[in-house]
Amino acid sequence: MEAEARKKLVAEKFSELFGGQPQLWSRAPGRVDLMGSHTDYNLGYVMTMTIDQDTWIAARARQDGRVCIRSLNAAGGGDFALDSLEQSRGCNWTDYVRGTAWALQQAGYRLTGFDGLVHSTVPFGSGLSSSAALEMACAVMFQQTSDLKLDPVEMALIGQAGENQYVGMNCGILDQYSSALGQAGSALLLDCRSLTSQVTPMAAGINVVICDTRAERNLAGTEYGERRAQCEQGVEMLRSHYPDIEALRDIRFEQLESHRAELPEVVYKRCRFIIQENQRVLDLAQALPGGDRLRLSELFRDSYQGARDLYQISAPAMEAMLQAMLAAPGVIGARQTGAGFGGCMVGLVEEGQLAAFAGQVLNDYAQRTGIQPQVYPVIASPGAGLLG
Ligand code: ADP
Ligand code: MG
Repeated sequence: MEAEARKKLVAEKFSELFGGQPQLWSRAPGRVDLMGSHTDYNLGYVMTMTIDQDTWIAARARQDGRVCIRSLNAAGGGDFALDSLEQSRGCNWTDYVRGTAWALQQAGYRLTGFDGLVHSTVPFGSGLSSSAALEMACAVMFQQTSDLKLDPVEMALIGQAGENQYVGMNCGILDQYSSALGQAGSALLLDCRSLTSQVTPMAAGINVVICDTRAERNLAGTEYGERRAQCEQGVEMLRSHYPDIEALRDIRFEQLESHRAELPEVVYKRCRFIIQENQRVLDLAQALPGGDRLRLSELFRDSYQGARDLYQISAPAMEAMLQAMLAAPGVIGARQTGAGFGGCMVGLVEEGQLAAFAGQVLNDYAQRTGIQPQVYPVIASPGAGLLG
């Protein structure tokens, strides 16, 4: 949908729901990781990129200490007092909004509420980070209504704190950081320890393409927490040899190999994946600007194989999508994105072959699985801010 038409639609719905016109608009993008699965909570590196799918909030400030929030993408909504958030976990999507407000207050900010309507083009639960986009759009909105000065890194940390402690999803910093600090037209090499990033341009002629398996993904399950715990166990055990290590980020591959026998097999596999994946992020940062096709394809291949065999976060639908992508014209590389267990895959595709690639993947994947996927190129859009 064109931006103008979208804005008109949201303004109309706002006026139906709340009466009058919205006065404030915020937006925050989703993201795709090009390399670095599960490296964020191991304090490593990620190559991340914002996408042109984003979340908007249209709002009008209110002075009675309440927020009334609705969404055009989800039923229900919330009408809550800002001074009793501890008691008001709603157990629906509005917890992401409440959680952001809660975390802002924990950081010492006094908030002014609003009537707000959310509209997003980021698909939910597909690994493109609709939750962080909602949180960052919310933080930008509070920034406006409450006249706050938040720098984007602080905003990302506040969103993460809300998602960790209020919503109860123990995610790393990747999603919020990407949504808050993403750059139009480029990927970012993010260092999850220092919370700094370097703009990494991509060679001309290469497109990033999302291939959404449309298969169920459930991270509320135990898998995500289990992976984190296994990484921590690895660090704990290796610390007896290397007292200074704080996270898997600090371990070199040779160090892991020399203590392989001491680690439970599953812990070894998890650690091996993270340490290698971290290195692949740095290697991708070298390869992306020049566009060395062979190197890009190897890095993507190794990342997926590690995710499947060592970190074990693949799923049958992801494997089917990978095969469809690798068989399609113009493909340079294909791998998982987001946390895995279903959701989206990401490809690097030659610009001139985009249509042929998409056409074949749609058919091939549908034949393999009986599921109609979605395939679309994405462009890096600016990080969270006011809707321009
Ligand atoms: P992901 O962040 O990968 O899309 P999550 O499970 O972390 O997946 O977050 C998805 C959840 O975020 C949705 O189920 C919903 O509760 C909430 N959400 C995200 N965007 C919106 C929106 N536009 N309107 C309402 N809820 C949203
Ligand atoms: Mg999320």
